[in-house]
Amino acid sequence: MDKEKRNSRTIIICDFDNTITKGDVTDYIYLKYLGDKFWEINELWEAGRIGTPEAYEMGSALVRITPEQFDQAVDEVEIDPYFPEFYQFCRDEGLELYIVSDGLDRYVERVLRKHGLTEIPVYTNSVSFQEDRMVMSFPYQDEECDLCGTCKEAILEKLRGEGDLAILIGDGGSDFCVAHSADIVFAKGRLKDYCEENGIPFIPFQSFQDILKWFREGRSTVGRKAHREK
Ligand SMILES: [Mg+2]
Repeated sequence: MDKEKRNSRTIIICDFDNTITKGDVTDYIYLKYLGDKFWEINELWEAGRIGTPEAYEMGSALVRITPEQFDQAVDEVEIDPYFPEFYQFCRDEGLELYIVSDGLDRYVERVLRKHGLTEIPVYTNSVSFQEDRMVMSFPYQDEECDLCGTCKEAILEKLRGEGDLAILIGDGGSDFCVAHSADIVFAKGRLKDYCEENGIPFIPFQSFQDILKWFREGRSTVGRKAHREK
């Protein structure tokens, strides 16, 4: 690959929970196995009083769940039906799609496997089991900030070369910081509110159907085909 091409990559950082999936998988599992205590933890997290690692650790200290029960809950999760088509579009157009999630590897990978999407690179937090206890680790945590388990901004900066275009697709708190660095932001939910409050330009979306439409209607010159047609 020559230098010019290498410098015009398009990097798409895509959130997982509530963006690719319908609903938040961690919330679903915690709510199912923790009951109302989940809401107390969630309230602290949403207010920014505790970060994701602390929220996970508070939850995992209380939850008793076997790996089999965990997987069973994950199998109830649905994804946006247009996401596989979006991935195929990215492949055809030479857009680099990365799933960067503040969720947990076991369920992200399980859901992707179910839908034949294991080729997509994933950056996320890690969970293992000691009998019926979850043990979390955070391989992509920022050294100086404990708000997120996976620092999406640091991952984008690692992936992005000079001249590359960075696109963020997301919905929640773990997407806030990286929204400031991305060139194009697709936002829904709390991320949409955050962008509005902070003057960050964004494109609203409900599903990957909207995002596909945005690319296909030629509102973007992003992608191999777009460059060829110029
Ligand atoms: Mg999300």
